[in-house]
Amino acid sequence: MSMKIETAFPGGNVFIEDINGFDILLTRDMRNSASTWFYWAFRAIFDQIGEYHFTFTTSNLLSSCGPAVSYDDGITWEWLGYECTNGSRNSFTYNFDGQKSNKVIFCTGMQYLPIHLEQFIARHNGSPYLSHSILTYSRKNRPVSLLHIEDTSSHGEKKHIFLSSRHHCCEMMATYALEGILETALGNDETGRRIRERYIIDSVPFADTDGVIDGDQGKNRIPHDHARDYGEHPIYPEVKAIQDLLLSEKQFFVLDMHCPWIYGGAQNETIYFPGPEEPDHAERLKLFSEILEKYSPADAPFYIGNHVPFGTLWHTKSNYSQGLPCVAWLRKTCTPVFAHAIEIPYAIASDKKLTVASVRALGRSIAESILEFDDRIKN
Ligand SMILES: [Zn+2]
Repeated sequence: MSMKIETAFPGGNVFIEDINGFDILLTRDMRNSASTWFYWAFRAIFDQIGEYHFTFTTSNLLSSCGPAVSYDDGITWEWLGYECTNGSRNSFTYNFDGQKSNKVIFCTGMQYLPIHLEQFIARHNGSPYLSHSILTYSRKNRPVSLLHIEDTSSHGEKKHIFLSSRHHCCEMMATYALEGILETALGNDETGRRIRERYIIDSVPFADTDGVIDGDQGKNRIPHDHARDYGEHPIYPEVKAIQDLLLSEKQFFVLDMHCPWIYGGAQNETIYFPGPEEPDHAERLKLFSEILEKYSPADAPFYIGNHVPFGTLWHTKSNYSQGLPCVAWLRKTCTPVFAHAIEIPYAIASDKKLTVASVRALGRSIAESILEFDDRIKN
């Protein structure tokens, strides 16, 4: 038997410690992150039917839905299920029965990589509203994508929306929600038309482009990560370019999209906003949260009761001692109407198993909520 493990693909991350028949021992690669984190992804190539046991050398690497699996080389994803882990957070069993592809990608969560962004752009190829350009080049000289949505045929004053994800590159589920917002803004229905009449949208789906492609953890990168780099002297070209973009126009609505810890805890399996320090921003976030609770889909529900006010749980001053994230920096630097982060779990939100479809639908509900929020803060 010559079962193989590969990591030479976008997002790949694992060290092979041992392959002994049907038992495989692996370590996730921390790269240059200072603390323990949980991202890993590998391709297994099976040449013999049987039950394979994958074990990691450290714990807390599996979601409450088990690993995510892809049978089409990382394009579509499903959960393997918590049952296959036998309640552990560092091992799972996979039964290769020969019915599906013998090449299977396993990952902490459902990957969203440049191929998914290319597919999104291709689905909207020919849209007069969407343009794709290069925001800047990453430290490794990769182009950083900027998506721009604008209906130039509709005149009148428009407000600016900015959406980002992957300041922590491993936080892949957030990008499906971001895609859901963009998809809604490009739609030919009433909601899409209303959004385009009122807003110009810019979006950077991969704020740490190198980390996304290389399969890094990204979180707690040394000396600090992309989400602690905002201020006078950013060290990442993406952050510098996003700062310039955000300061070039008054921002109406800025949403920086994240995923929390992999499972459990007080809030890691709920969708929530980390609250701001500033009372006026906290008030506006409360209004937006009330609206989003109403619109959020049943299979990716948002509840205002899961709010994490500033100064509670992990969201305290000491968490930002290395530097500011995008939205906190923007609130301190100028006067956006709304500038917040959102945390979208990897796998479970308030007891619902998340899927690509349900998280895209959450994105749609965020887009719908922006319209009502805008109407109501005028009153
Ligand atoms: Zn994050």
